[in-house]
Amino acid sequence: MSNKDLKIQQHSAEELRSLYTWKHRAFEITSIVLFWTFTLATAVKVAPYVKASPWLTLAAFLTGFIVADWVSGFVHWLADTWGSTATPLVGKALIRPFREHHVDQLAITRHDYIETNGNNCAISVPWALGSLLTPLDHSWHHFALFMVVSITSMIFWVMMTNQFHKWAHEPDDKRPTVVTWLQRLHLILPPEHHQIHHTRPFLDYYCITTGWLNWPLKKIGFYRTSERLVTAYLGWIPRKDDIGLNAALSVAPLPEQTEPARQQLSEN
Ligand SMILES: [Zn+2]
Ligand SMILES: [Zn+2]
Repeated sequence: MSNKDLKIQQHSAEELRSLYTWKHRAFEITSIVLFWTFTLATAVKVAPYVKASPWLTLAAFLTGFIVADWVSGFVHWLADTWGSTATPLVGKALIRPFREHHVDQLAITRHDYIETNGNNCAISVPWALGSLLTPLDHSWHHFALFMVVSITSMIFWVMMTNQFHKWAHEPDDKRPTVVTWLQRLHLILPPEHHQIHHTRPFLDYYCITTGWLNWPLKKIGFYRTSERLVTAYLGWIPRKDDIGLNAALSVAPLPEQTEPARQQLSEN
């Protein structure tokens, strides 16, 4: 069956939008304040060491930039593939925006700074605190400096990810010119590259910081292998809530792609 024939069933944009509550907004504001407090304090702590180890600091900064793209893809894949808005803790907070994004791509362009960046700050706060509390004045200081700078760089780019993603959906005349140039140079997520992810049934090119890792991860079958493992051990069907059971079963990389296996899973 071709992807065009898939009978995809999704939640309505209105239903998904109605689950964005003032409580979650308060959580987002708190996360943004904590993220910036911890990250700026870490930058102040690291600054005196940069002059003594410029190359190590630069290598750590670039490592964080690349790892952020992988993190953006992994978190996006998790949220697109498993659970639903009813999943405890992460359902309304993390999964809901991804479900909404597949049925209304332009909703993200109407989100303000808090809604765009709150969730990514929330997942970064524990890492920001860990970096701030890591001592840099002991015998392992080079390793510690590399870890602190690379993690701080990673969470900074993770925080920027949804802004890059938002720009990838915005019309040309709404984006700052410098952003369009960065997209053309593929230093941040280009719109046409990201549209591959928005092709039904939404199962490729999850990385949304720069998108550099999308091709290699697809080539090695990273997401399909991970889905096969999760289905084999937990019996979960990937994308069941995002595109509906029938479409999900049609495209799922089940451990053995046989009709009895699909039948059994659909009954769970
Ligand atoms: Zn998605
Ligand atoms: Zn998108």
